[in-house]
Amino acid sequence: MEAPPYLCKICDAPKLKTNHWQMAITRPELEGVIYQPIESIEEPRNPLFIYEELCGDTCSLKHHSRYLDELRKRFKAMETPEETSNDTEQKTSSHA
Ligand SMILES: [Zn+2]
Repeated sequence: MEAPPYLCKICDAPKLKTNHWQMAITRPELEGVIYQPIESIEEPRNPLFIYEELCGDTCSLKHHSRYLDELRKRFKAMETPEETSNDTEQKTSSHA
């Protein structure tokens, strides 16, 4: 039995037998991304990770570039305060 055909997550190319495909494994909360030869992926897969088939180095680089963009966005979002602390009145007022 042949494995089901993959499509590259970046360029939609179908997997051929001779391709040197890689798997991008993105860990939750953008902790990191790992690239491995697709043949070396262990089953069962970790359900917490995102697996994306990539047709080669070029698409792996593009994938990583997107990942870094996403990472930058996340950090930017963390830098800008989304809500100012609207705490209820603090104990600054002193009633005599
Ligand atoms: Zn590709």
